[in-house]
Amino acid sequence: MEEKFDAIVVGAGAAGLGAAYRLAKNGLNIVLLERGQRIGAKNVYGGRIYSHIFEKEIPEFRKEAPIERWVKKERLTLMNSDDAVTLELFSDFSPNDSFISILSKFNEWLGKKVEEAGGLVIPGIKVDDLIMEDGTVKGIVAGDEKLYADVVIDAEGINPILARKAGLRDDWKPNQVAVGVKEVIKISEDKINDIFQLNEGEGVANLFLGYPSSYGLGGGFLYTNRDTISLGVVVRVDSAIAKQIPIYDIVEDFRNHPFVARLLKEGSPIEYSAHLVPEEGFNGIPRNLAGNGILLAGDVAGFVLNRGITIRGVDLAFLSGLIAAETVKEAHEAGDFSRTSLKAYEEKLKNSIVLSELETFKRTSTLLGNLRFYETYPQILCEILKEAYTVGESSRKVYPILREKMKGRLSLFTLIRDVISAVRNL
Ligand SMILES: Cc1cc2nc3c(=O)[nH]c(=O)nc-3n(C[C@H](O)[C@H](O)[C@H](O)COP(=O)(O)OP(=O)(O)OC[C@H]3O[C@@H](n4cnc5c(N)ncnc54)[C@H](O)[C@@H]3O)c2cc1C
Repeated sequence: MEEKFDAIVVGAGAAGLGAAYRLAKNGLNIVLLERGQRIGAKNVYGGRIYSHIFEKEIPEFRKEAPIERWVKKERLTLMNSDDAVTLELFSDFSPNDSFISILSKFNEWLGKKVEEAGGLVIPGIKVDDLIMEDGTVKGIVAGDEKLYADVVIDAEGINPILARKAGLRDDWKPNQVAVGVKEVIKISEDKINDIFQLNEGEGVANLFLGYPSSYGLGGGFLYTNRDTISLGVVVRVDSAIAKQIPIYDIVEDFRNHPFVARLLKEGSPIEYSAHLVPEEGFNGIPRNLAGNGILLAGDVAGFVLNRGITIRGVDLAFLSGLIAAETVKEAHEAGDFSRTSLKAYEEKLKNSIVLSELETFKRTSTLLGNLRFYETYPQILCEILKEAYTVGESSRKVYPILREKMKGRLSLFTLIRDVISAVRNL
């Protein structure tokens, strides 16, 4: 088969699906290739998606999308090995809502939207190589097959095999990516509502710092699906290596922590998965996002925002795909697919929330590299509050407890500096 398309999209994650959907809606002759045996099969994440971009792009989104629950409670829990301190925000976040969804189902649904819009979606095809002629991408190679196109949108996710071949990005370094492991735990819908005090359709997004990542750079997460719970841990790869954190056991330790175990005591694990996620935010984005005949969208371009209190990649990946598609449409009209023409993509991204949001939080990754937020603060806070709430033989005031717990672990100066830095950069 030697066929020519207007555009080939590689990878049916949120980025590739966004690109393919908009290209198909714009009437271009496109194909979306996915190595998984079905759309969604290879996609792993934590649990929550911000809705605004999907609502804007897909009018029937609220009626049709496979939404498990809408987030009504945001929780941040700091943990040591025995105790936990939780801050909870209960609110109606509409119209800027986020929802909990199972990514494989969500992407499968997006795949159907691409087909409804007239796009050709082919799962079970692994793209092995790019066809390059005089430094320009002309198509792809998959096994014995070659497919030609005016342009390739590379949305291959975290492993930048094709992007490296196109000379657009290097491999990630251990300090630029985190490894996430996740379990899905089966619990009935009513029990979840009881345990987390939720009304029907309402959900909890709970992030954890400290013990879940063995006090390394990372954290835990818990999202309530309709009748399952997604529970997992993310640890930056260099930190996992330095601390010798056993990644495959770590989620089990987290699940067995007394605070978590009591939430899950009615449940049983039914699924296990692992995936890498870009961690560096703005500073991990390659200098060029467009080459001759090729554009990068989603994780391969590093469009993930980790603010410590939220992790956000799906909506940014989808939006970058939409913007890549708009750039391709203009290049198609101009009949020019050179880097000079396609670099309009970079300008459009700068004017969108993809790059503006990542730039706003560009110092956050430095802040999140501060081990005290994972090691010292969760432990000290748990210990101080436990002492403060404990009644014993002698009367004690909070300040001496505070001084005793901080002694040799944290100076007042460092504490003030970290608080200011957190407030300014989160
Ligand atoms: C543990 C964890 C928790 C996270 N939590 C959240 C969260 O709660 N909310 C959030 O918004 N984001 C979260 N993220 C980030 C989010 O998952 C990603 O940013 C987003 O899914 C990226 O989408 P993508 O389309 O760029 O990549 P992917 O979803 O990885 O899609 C890439 C696709 O390309 C396919 N592919 C790769 N190579 C080839 C090839 N050669 N040929 C054909 N197909 C190929 C893959 O099979 C895959 O389907 C999390 C990530 C992790 C790992």
